[in-house]
Amino acid sequence: MKKIAVIGAGTMGNGIAHVFALNGFDVILSDIKKEFLDKATEVIRNNLDRQEKKGIITLDQKLSAIDKIRTLEGIENIPADCDLVIEAIYENKEAKGRLFNSLEARVKKESIFATNTSSISITELASYSRPDRFIGMHFMNPVPVMKLVEIIRGYSTSDETFNMVKDLAIKIDKTPVEVFDYPGFVSNRILMPMINEAIYALMEGVASKEDIDTVMKLGMNHPMGPLTLADFIGLDVCLAIMEVLYNGFNDSKYRPCPLLKKMVAAKKLGRKTGEGFYKYA
Ligand code: NAD
Repeated sequence: MKKIAVIGAGTMGNGIAHVFALNGFDVILSDIKKEFLDKATEVIRNNLDRQEKKGIITLDQKLSAIDKIRTLEGIENIPADCDLVIEAIYENKEAKGRLFNSLEARVKKESIFATNTSSISITELASYSRPDRFIGMHFMNPVPVMKLVEIIRGYSTSDETFNMVKDLAIKIDKTPVEVFDYPGFVSNRILMPMINEAIYALMEGVASKEDIDTVMKLGMNHPMGPLTLADFIGLDVCLAIMEVLYNGFNDSKYRPCPLLKKMVAAKKLGRKTGEGFYKYA
């Protein structure tokens, strides 16, 4: 594998492009508008600068990584000879489906399609293109820092596809974990119910928000309390994932907390709106 296309240059896409370029791959980073690509390029440069200042990478590595990334507006001109296409667009099943459908006609049959979805079924997304050469590559945010990649096998993902993607994850200095396609995979199936339960504890007056976070930080050695983490992830994202778990398993243990629903309706989404469980300047 040499040439990687990353579709969607937002939070995750620019991080994925950064990591592949730093590890010597040719990267094509695509988004719908030039301004999003310009913003992504600026973010990547800043993040590479920070890594250089911290002594994590050399100046040469930084310059070579910048050189390896080519930006592309739209997907009409995506090179047919990409070895791997990683999709990191909005978390919307129909939009992702349409994208894979049009990529199917444009990219050579041998290449692998991967999605960075946090919660949509890999098997369902695979049905829009090439199910045996389709896989989930769930990177964690921030991608240049976080080691884990959940490699999620859809129902029809071939062993060859899985092994190629697993090896690739190791080549870019990540730690791959093999996961089968069930709602929430492993990460969100465990993380989100914990956050949801913390919100229930707050709603029921078990403790204050600060104290709930302190219990999990000091008592369980979590680097961040669950309510602080929910604000960081975005309460709308947390609610969407709880709904995927609830609907996917048809099990009431995954019901989203009414306080979470109320805060999303009030647009108190966390850091990105300036207020969630806490207020942000
Ligand atoms: P984001 O909103 O920051 O970026 C999405 C980008 O995709 C935007 O720049 C948008 O313009 C672009 N886009 C939308 N439709 C497109 C299309 N048809 N073609 C090309 N570009 C298109 O989103 P994000 O936070 O980077 O999330 C991307 C994916 O990664 C989602 O599926 C999300 O669930 C998943 N994810 C997010 C996180 C996280 O912490 N943010 C973590 C793991 C996985």
